[in-house]
Amino acid sequence: MTYKKLADGRLQPSSVLRENKQLIEQADRCAYCGATGVKLQWEHILPLSRGGSDTVDNLVLACAPCNLAKGALQPLEWYAQRGLDHKEIPRLVMGKLLKQVLEAHRQQGTLEASEYPVGEGLHLWNVCQVIGSRQR
Ligand SMILES: [Zn+2]
Repeated sequence: MTYKKLADGRLQPSSVLRENKQLIEQADRCAYCGATGVKLQWEHILPLSRGGSDTVDNLVLACAPCNLAKGALQPLEWYAQRGLDHKEIPRLVMGKLLKQVLEAHRQQGTLEASEYPVGEGLHLWNVCQVIGSRQR
C-alpha cells in the first residue's frame, strides 16, 4: 500500500520517514514518566511475583529508573507511595490495569459481588483488591 503510493508518486519519501519517526518516538517513551532517548525495558504492570501475567496486556515499556522504583508494586500502590493521585497514572497503564482487574473479577465471579455495589460506582482501590487476594 505504502509502496504503491510511493511508486505512484502520491507519497513523498519524506512523509514516510516522518511517520516512521513518530512510531519510533512513541515506542521510545517510558510509559510512566514519558522519558525519551533512554533504554526501555519491558515492565510488568502487575508484578509477576504478585500473579501478574507475562502477556502484552500486562506489559509496557518503561525506563530503568521507573522499572526499578516500581519494583513489586502495582501502579496504584506505587503512585500512592510517591504521594501521587491515581489520576496521574498514564492512560495506557491504567487501561491495561483495569482490563486485567475486570478480567480477574470475572474469573472469580466477583464482578457483581455485593462488596462492589453498582450504585456507588467502582471504587478503584476496592476493585483492585482482587489482585492482592489472588495470592492469598
Ligand atoms: Zn520512566
